[in-house]
Amino acid sequence: MAINRILIANRGEIALRIHRAAHEMGIETVAVHSTADADAMHVRLADHAVCIGPPAAAESYLNHAAIISAAEVAGCDAIHPGYGFLSENARFAEKVEAHDIAWIGPKPEHIVTMGDKVQAKKTAGELGLPLVPGSDGAVSDPEEGRKIASEIGYPVIIKAASGGGGRGMKVCESEDKIESLMSQAGSEAKAAFGDATVYIEKYLGNPRHIEFQVFGDGNGNAIHLGERDCSLQRRHQKVLEEAPSPVISDEERERMGEVCAQAMRDMGYRGAGTIEFLWEDGEFYFIEMNTRLQVEHPVTEAITGVDLVREQIRIADGKPLSVAQKDLEFRGHAIECRINAEDPFTFAPSPGKVTYYHPAGGMHVRVDSGLYAGYSIPPYYDSMIAKLIVYGRDREGCIMRLRRALEEMVVEGVKTNIPLHRELLHQKDVLHGDYSIKWLEEWLESRED
Ligand code: ADP
Repeated sequence: MAINRILIANRGEIALRIHRAAHEMGIETVAVHSTADADAMHVRLADHAVCIGPPAAAESYLNHAAIISAAEVAGCDAIHPGYGFLSENARFAEKVEAHDIAWIGPKPEHIVTMGDKVQAKKTAGELGLPLVPGSDGAVSDPEEGRKIASEIGYPVIIKAASGGGGRGMKVCESEDKIESLMSQAGSEAKAAFGDATVYIEKYLGNPRHIEFQVFGDGNGNAIHLGERDCSLQRRHQKVLEEAPSPVISDEERERMGEVCAQAMRDMGYRGAGTIEFLWEDGEFYFIEMNTRLQVEHPVTEAITGVDLVREQIRIADGKPLSVAQKDLEFRGHAIECRINAEDPFTFAPSPGKVTYYHPAGGMHVRVDSGLYAGYSIPPYYDSMIAKLIVYGRDREGCIMRLRRALEEMVVEGVKTNIPLHRELLHQKDVLHGDYSIKWLEEWLESRED
């Protein structure tokens, strides 16, 4: 089956990103949008556009029936879900395939396995990935929780099996709190994800977040495209990402990357995936796998020269991977800043009309964004409005160029976190690559004093 027309089941910069890859392959695009996004850039640029519902995502971007019927009516032969929304919804992926439409994503059964964190951890262990010490699966009884926690030692973290986006996690420092925190975590998980299942793992004190990009063709061939360091986080949300990680040697990358690629070969994994680890004192600990394209994928593209969306489309079209592991080279350094419409220091969202917009430019500067002057950022969705991705021959050169690009970038009419990024890129620890997942929040607190 050849893919000739793709429905893009997403919005914002990622919808545009998919449109661009498709057009460069000579493939037509169909945008779907809510009434709040009628004036969005991806809607303007796509070959066709279909309004699928009101602003609330549940009735538009998450509406299976509306999206699949749009695909049928518009004659699409493939659906790309982007990230978020339906990208990790196995039911939706199955329905798409049942309609004889190519799903530009992993096999539904792999979405199911990796979407349940307890199942994911079990599978990862069987595939030979190193795990965070913790419970052997779900824990429901507080007595059992107490026993496991005392075996692995406090502090421990109680996590929701169906969790995501950093939600549904509780750190427990001592035995007297385990029972109440387990029940809190369970009821919060039930409310947020409809599933009260929790599990326990060792809480690592000062880790880095390091993830490997993997790609499989679904027939047992798979490669890795190196790691990304996403340790600069606030409330478990990534703020700035870089590749390669300042703490990973070439040998480590090759060793760990191969472990990840082999795991994907053994699974018969199809499409793009990210295997996330915490890293502390030279050790990797698997936390989860994301069965989709990630927000931060462009830093990998910058240092490998591989267009990951193009690769996803090729694989969904039954073609082989376009690069072999031995031909992949990691060159230079790339950093991405997530630009959000929010107060840079209180983080209060700032939707509204953009009165002036000047993206950064110049050599090795990429801005992925649907912004334009006159655009109204709707209040209903994620606050990320742009990604600034900068490449340099080495980390230092990359940072100098990124500072320059941040100086140039202007968004008026709404508040953005550009001032936060400008300040961050002058912090000694950031310049030295010396930070853990705790660093940003601690720095924000100390900045207030
Ligand atoms: P989610 O699916 O909600 O993103 P993850 O399991 O990926 O959940 O964890 C998100 C973040 O939570 C990690 O990047 C890290 O900052 C923190 N975290 C998760 N597990 C642990 C742990 N065992 N010890 C310390 N921090 C953790």
